Amino acid sequence: MGTRQFSRGRRLVARLTHGADLLEEITAIAEEQRLAVAEVRGLGALKRARLSYYDQNDFAYIDIAVDEPVEIASLLGTVSRRDGTVAAHIHVALTGRDGRCIGGHVVPGCIVFAGEIVLQEMLGEPLEREYDEQTGLWLWRGL
Ligand code: ZN
Repeated sequence: MGTRQFSRGRRLVARLTHGADLLEEITAIAEEQRLAVAEVRGLGALKRARLSYYDQNDFAYIDIAVDEPVEIASLLGTVSRRDGTVAAHIHVALTGRDGRCIGGHVVPGCIVFAGEIVLQEMLGEPLEREYDEQTGLWLWRGL
């Protein structure tokens, strides 16, 4: 376990572009606003979704395709850095017409119908990701 303290920076809201790729859009906002570290929250709807589930035994992501319109019941994530570029790490809980939930790690291919997000900038030492042998994941260095 490791922790690092940040202070609050700007609090931004953004309306997502209809037809945009969710991950690209959040990354573009972070780049445009020069957010080094941030917390991301949001809600909205997607035309379709592409998620993944991390298999802890195989150290591999399994693709999940959702080929129907869904609500973003909840979107949570962080913005930090990986190899010097913006790394938005986003998870969502999605609901369909029957209200049932599916969720996971957002990958390219989630097409926005509508959405609104809140970004809380965190000021402090930048958070950089590095490969972690124990999990096979890119985790925060120095924590
Ligand atoms: Zn994830």
